[in-house]
Amino acid sequence: MQYKNPRIKPIYPLYRIDSNTFRIGAQVGTTKEFNDPTHQLWELAKLLNGQDIEKVFNKERKKFPDVQMSDQYILDGIDLLNKEGFIEELLPQTECSINERYAPNIKYFSHFIDASGDRFKPQKIINQSKILLLGLGGGGSNILTLLAGLGPQKITIIDYDVVEEENLGRQFLYREDDIGKNKTEVAKKAIQAINSNIEIEAHNIKITNAHDIESYVKEVDIVICAVDEPQFLITRIVNQAIVRGNKPCVFAGSQVSHGRVFTIIPGVTGCFDCLNIHYSITDSGFLNQFRALAKSDFQASSIAYGPAIFQLTSTIVDEVVRVLTSYLNPLTLSTQFEVDYTNSTSFKHPAWPRYEERCPTCGNGKEDEWDVFKYYPLFNH
Ligand SMILES: [Zn+2]
Repeated sequence: MQYKNPRIKPIYPLYRIDSNTFRIGAQVGTTKEFNDPTHQLWELAKLLNGQDIEKVFNKERKKFPDVQMSDQYILDGIDLLNKEGFIEELLPQTECSINERYAPNIKYFSHFIDASGDRFKPQKIINQSKILLLGLGGGGSNILTLLAGLGPQKITIIDYDVVEEENLGRQFLYREDDIGKNKTEVAKKAIQAINSNIEIEAHNIKITNAHDIESYVKEVDIVICAVDEPQFLITRIVNQAIVRGNKPCVFAGSQVSHGRVFTIIPGVTGCFDCLNIHYSITDSGFLNQFRALAKSDFQASSIAYGPAIFQLTSTIVDEVVRVLTSYLNPLTLSTQFEVDYTNSTSFKHPAWPRYEERCPTCGNGKEDEWDVFKYYPLFNH
């Protein structure tokens, strides 16, 4: 590995424990203890502050005049620290050009990127991204706040509701004075006050079919579906739009004490209708149960408790960042990622495949071959 201005990542402390050992990092999961009785690695680590690599070579040799140290010998020491994830390049040019407000995000990303990578890249990608956010309720309004902090280039927001008093317990974009106003209008103003770098496009639309949003899907890099009405049916509608538009979408829903997130990348993962087919094929009780639920008059009401919904919205927005930047692998591709609010745990449901020959939406199948799709319109109360 070649180095120019290597340094120990400034997010970690470097400290001596005793004459034999030193540590980098201070918490479980981000700490490594090095056995170093000769102090060679310790002295080297202290020299890694972003100065020129030639200076590092010279200074390390001066510290140990009795030891024969080739460049490669010293580089092996830096490689060892880099392998443990503690080294980054200084990259002073980029450091100056980045907006100060995103510096803490970059430090977070730096944990996952070694000296050969560009720790600024995830933030740069976010800053150039265009996102379509569907829904500004318990999920969407808090997702929007998180997005404002991340700073995408543009967010298009779609909702048709007005702010109501019952929203104020968990939708922290809105104020008492906003009651009765359109959520889109209030949200646009609130986000512009948080981050004026972001272009916000707001549309007051009730989504009733895929055509309603197709032109907006086309314009963005990723879609977030945080609308939950009509139950189930809306997911099918948005799924159709993102498959036609060939754009990834992170879907989310919350039911009482659990939330679910899944991400669809058209042509790569199975789509939502592939999931319907998958259940129809693999679960003998599914169709009966789904038909019975569709025929009941049950209408899901808002059961969103602020501290619980935050567990879900943070998972959603981190997943959006993973899909956009690959700073870590996405968690919710081809699977439903379930968050249990009661104990802050999560698990993945069994994966579902893409049914290219059988799916009417992302493949060559026919809609009327699958009974499950007949029941969706019944949710349109
Ligand atoms: Zn499909």
